[in-house]
Amino acid sequence: MKLRQELLGRARRIVVKLGTGLLTDDQNRLSKASIEQAAVQVAALCQQTRQLIVVSSGAIAAGMAALGLKQRPKHLHELQACAAIGQSKLMALYDESFSQRGIAVAQILLTHDDLKNRDRHLNARNTLTTLLERGVVPIINENDTVAVDEIKFGDNDRLGALTATMIDADSLVILSHIEGLLDHDGHVVPAVTEVNREIEALAGDTDRSTSVGGMRSKIDAAKIVTRAGIPMIIASGESATVLADVLAGEEVGTIFLPKTPDKLASRKRWIAFFQKPAGALVVDDGAKTALCDGAKSLLAKGVVATVGKFDRGDVVAIRDQNEVEFARGLAKVSSTELAAATGVVVHRDDLVIL
Ligand code: GLU
Repeated sequence: MKLRQELLGRARRIVVKLGTGLLTDDQNRLSKASIEQAAVQVAALCQQTRQLIVVSSGAIAAGMAALGLKQRPKHLHELQACAAIGQSKLMALYDESFSQRGIAVAQILLTHDDLKNRDRHLNARNTLTTLLERGVVPIINENDTVAVDEIKFGDNDRLGALTATMIDADSLVILSHIEGLLDHDGHVVPAVTEVNREIEALAGDTDRSTSVGGMRSKIDAAKIVTRAGIPMIIASGESATVLADVLAGEEVGTIFLPKTPDKLASRKRWIAFFQKPAGALVVDDGAKTALCDGAKSLLAKGVVATVGKFDRGDVVAIRDQNEVEFARGLAKVSSTELAAATGVVVHRDDLVIL
């Protein structure tokens, strides 16, 4: 309780992710009452000088309902058509609920490319910051109608994590119909200090026809934000006071504690989380220790193999000999130059231990 209070009581900038299951009824239609319930809570927090950003799913489900589809379409263009129909319905409900409380909302639709490209990333961040400073609540979703496989975030849990990371949020709250991370006996795990194999083993995938992520994607989101230095909470959004309870430090849901007390610098976040690595470097145990424990640069002599093709300046994954990725960094040499290289391959300033 005390730790939660310390971490969350002072949280000023908060990203709240709302899952499809929470926002729709059993016919996949958007539930006005649920959106209203979320808006009431978010509006109350805005009045306490907190800054709230909502990452909302629900567009595809709403589009499916409008078209009378029971099953989630398999083809991308059909999903995109559903999202195009549903997104405006979703925003109309948010707009109505928030404007009744004197708060303006702004729709932000993002693709992975928008955050990967450094200029667009900074631009999106500036826009979000401007909206927050003006007391507007940004409502973010993936730009599903134009996102194709290569640029998809994958799911909105990840989008929530990347948003929180980009705008340097103080916490990420993921609300869905589940109570939190459940242990093998079905009890909520109150706190996770490290996302290790045991924790990953507790994650199953979603079985709902409209949802994407499930616990698996929430755990992946936790890995991102906790490494960036941001606590994350998974809780049930069914309670009408869940946000206030979470931020008061009450023992609701599961909290994933930040990996480090200090937040990761913005440039390092960008290297670690916003790029898909162009290739990988496999390193020996000595190099792994030098990187992890000695905070050293990666030298060519520690590299035992390369995977894929990359240019100078590309982000590469750094793996140990068990194929486990433990770091990411900017390559100083291309994959073709590497064989003849002798010095630094990834400089410590361009390297993040995950
Ligand atoms: N962007 C999708 C939607 O609005 C949701 C993806 C997700 O739930 O993770 O329907």
